[in-house]
Amino acid sequence: MTYQHYIDGEWVDGHGTETFESENPATGETLGEFHRGTEADVREATAAADEAFEEWRELSHIDRAEYLWDIYHELKERHEELGEVVTKECGKEISEGKADVTEAWHMVEWAAGDARHPKGDVVPSEIPSKDAYMRRKPRGVVGCITPWNFPVAIPFWHMAVSLVEGNTVVWKPAEQTPWCGQIIAEMFEESGIPDGVFNMVQGYGDAGAAVVDDDRVDTVLFTGSAEVGHEIASEVASDPGKLAACEMGGKNGIVVTEEADLDVAVHSAVMSSFKTTGQRCVSSERLVVHEDVYDEFKERFVEVAEKVAVGDPLDEDTFMGPAIEAEHVEKIREYNDLAREEATNVLVDRTELGDEEIPDGHEDGHWVGPFVYEVDYDPDLRSIKEEVFGPHVALIEYSGDIERAVEIHNDTPYGLAGAVISEDYRQINYYRDHAEVGLAYGNLPCIGAEVQLPFGGVKKSGNGYPSAREVIEAVTERTAWTLNNSKDIEMAQGLSADIKTEDD
Ligand code: ADP
Repeated sequence: MTYQHYIDGEWVDGHGTETFESENPATGETLGEFHRGTEADVREATAAADEAFEEWRELSHIDRAEYLWDIYHELKERHEELGEVVTKECGKEISEGKADVTEAWHMVEWAAGDARHPKGDVVPSEIPSKDAYMRRKPRGVVGCITPWNFPVAIPFWHMAVSLVEGNTVVWKPAEQTPWCGQIIAEMFEESGIPDGVFNMVQGYGDAGAAVVDDDRVDTVLFTGSAEVGHEIASEVASDPGKLAACEMGGKNGIVVTEEADLDVAVHSAVMSSFKTTGQRCVSSERLVVHEDVYDEFKERFVEVAEKVAVGDPLDEDTFMGPAIEAEHVEKIREYNDLAREEATNVLVDRTELGDEEIPDGHEDGHWVGPFVYEVDYDPDLRSIKEEVFGPHVALIEYSGDIERAVEIHNDTPYGLAGAVISEDYRQINYYRDHAEVGLAYGNLPCIGAEVQLPFGGVKKSGNGYPSAREVIEAVTERTAWTLNNSKDIEMAQGLSADIKTEDD
């Protein structure tokens, strides 16, 4: 059977003739076949969303949230099963597959729970008889374009708040994880949400581009590569009524100072560099380490990187699963080659895993292990500037104070996540105040965001509209609402309200 799109409350084949397959990146096995969405399918979905908006916005926040509470319960009840689906479809090891589902229900819980929270501000007016308020209205149709690496959590980052706030949605899941897309769409169908409020079109970047391009789409939410995100942001910028909130990658770094506890430093660096096979937007590819602790840190980090368990992601003893697809392994290899040229020393090279490291039945998986190298810091090195999105990590030794470490840390076009490892609160606070990132951590890995915090980057990593809880900024419009309780009209700033005529 070929899975379909979900448009206006119906499962449909769409107008295209092409299909595509979802592949298990650990085995190469086909998981399902899906219709590939076209521009015409996206047009139908946006028309349905536009049509459904007027009635949906009339419901209260609390009534809209009821549909999401159903989904919250289902995500929880199906935790194990869905965690396995995530792992099979995107190759993250099983604890990460399950955490993806947990994060999704956390986001739904936050959005649906927020429906009962007070909203807006009561603002004082200069004029005692005026009441002033800040209120929010839904923007309309929200186009959501999501990546493969958090195939359940990120769609709910985009959609849960959008829907509770009264928007309707057209969602284009990542082409690598359509099975997760199918299951989420089934959940919306079962929730009984009114037709057209939630729509899903499966497919590739051309379907995503059609969402961005559609005049009926009021806000575009995008999480993915910087390349695509910048294209979307610049296209949307030329359309005055439209808004894009783009969340992109990073070249994230961890600063390990001379005051670091090295147990914490090594643990944090290993988690940040190798979890999800380095394929998180917050993964760390640069470790900036003080000369006083450099040799010991290096020895300990390398020892773990040599041994980190790469293998079957469904096996609970695995730390790192495969990369998402063959082309991505190729990209990681190319960056490893570049680093071989730019590095002073390659410390760990598990680019090609030995046959004995690849579990039986997984020979067709997309395997790549840790690659660790050291460089003499030079602002012109590409390997420490460009995002690889893999288990590829540079050790950079620094001398001097925390100011110098942060200068090196900030020397990248990106600014998503970062961490400082130190027992000295002055160093920690300096990093907190000067690191150019949206997500900063002290004595922790630079991964592991929680939905009740804002999630967003600066510089090339984002355009200022955070996702997770604060996506509310991108999917609502504020109204400054002022009501006069008097029969007289009185103006602020001493402005005269007298109407003068020639008779006066
Ligand atoms: P990743 O590198 O994580 O795969 P991408 O930016 O390539 O990130 O993809 C993220 C999402 O953006 C996917 O759903 C993909 O299909 C979609 N996409 C890719 N190209 C475009 C485009 N030109 N316009 C809109 N969406 C796109």
